[in-house]
Amino acid sequence: MHRIIFSSSATVYGSEAPVPYLESMPRGTTSNPYGTSKAMVEKVLEDLASADERWSVALLRYFNPIGAHPSGLIGEDPQGIPNNLMPFIAQVAVGRRDELTIFGNDYPTVDGTCERDYLHVVDLAVGHLKALKALEAPGVSVYNLGTGQGVSVLEMVKSFTGVTGVEVPYRFGDRRPGDLPAFWADAAKAERELGWATDKNLDDMMADTWRWQSANPQGYAE
Ligand code: UDP
Repeated sequence: MHRIIFSSSATVYGSEAPVPYLESMPRGTTSNPYGTSKAMVEKVLEDLASADERWSVALLRYFNPIGAHPSGLIGEDPQGIPNNLMPFIAQVAVGRRDELTIFGNDYPTVDGTCERDYLHVVDLAVGHLKALKALEAPGVSVYNLGTGQGVSVLEMVKSFTGVTGVEVPYRFGDRRPGDLPAFWADAAKAERELGWATDKNLDDMMADTWRWQSANPQGYAE
């Protein structure tokens, strides 16, 4: 049996899908090349598995992985200006950037800022091991890897400061084109079929991010 795990993304559900996202929903219309590439590879792997029964495929749809290894030795070091929220918060906190711009505060959410389903990278890694072990039969299995809970951008900033004691100056800016107001996983299938559920909470994600960033203020050396 050939086993393959594909790192897919919640973005394949597209902009019209109701929350929480369920694996049984069809792929939607993607709004950027990243999402389109994820949807395309999912389809290629589905075609492969239906044409050749030697293949056992897991499509793991990541929600918003953040955090770092608890040792503080492995963390996220984006090149240039971070696109993603967590590394941006961490770089503001460590003094590399002046302030966070929060993209929009007029969304129909708890506090007007976007909500996402953030999960710890170590939980994500464990999800891969469990999926790999479960791949026995030919065909394709699809799993959401998320916590099942939405957290707003403002809640993220508050949580970071609450855990680390470090203030993160921010201002509200325009909405970022293509951002959806809120989405999170229905995480029940991975728990039912793989015995996987997230173990780490938001405080762990913040503490581990900060352990790595504060030990590596300028990221990894070239
Ligand atoms: N975000 C923000 N400021 C930033 C980066 C991100 O307000 O500098 C918001 C973004 O609008 C989204 C959330 O944080 O609502 C998560 O964004 P990220 O790029 O980390 O993940 P995405 O869900 O877009 O894949």
